[in-house]
Amino acid sequence: MKEVSSVDVAISPTEKFQEYLTTRGMRLTRERMIFVEEVFADHEHFDADTIIERVSHRKDGRSVSRSTVYRVLGLLEEAGMIRKVARQNDKDVFEHDYGYAQHDHFICEKCGELTEFSNDKIRQMVEEIAAEFGFRLSHHRLEGHGVCATCSAPPQRRHHKLDMI
Ligand SMILES: [Zn+2]
Ligand SMILES: [Zn+2]
Repeated sequence: MKEVSSVDVAISPTEKFQEYLTTRGMRLTRERMIFVEEVFADHEHFDADTIIERVSHRKDGRSVSRSTVYRVLGLLEEAGMIRKVARQNDKDVFEHDYGYAQHDHFICEKCGELTEFSNDKIRQMVEEIAAEFGFRLSHHRLEGHGVCATCSAPPQRRHHKLDMI
């Protein structure tokens, strides 16, 4: 396992989004631009509320309707710039698909923790299988569901650790 890192991209997310909107005959409005900037401000997983919260803290941000947020998220998804990784507490959780290295996830069914990993053996194996099917692979998604290390730790051990502090 190794850490997932960002990858260099030729053009900024804002420019990339602008390109996509142009193909759809749409404009990059100021509101949409603020959104893209906030979505790509860091690499953490996020949901619609995360972005609404961040935009509201900006000097140039103003309150925007929830439906606008969902529309922009939908456009970013169609543009291949973000993707849904999970659904938690009735909310879609997204992450960047643009400017981020290929990686896979473990999703904890108890606490919802998303663990990212990238593994060359898995990548090679999926590529080999794709080749067997004559399939031209652009990327893959792998998700492991179960219980994370924290949630599966026996409670007495956690108590023991506290006693020692
Ligand atoms: Zn957990
Ligand atoms: Zn991820």
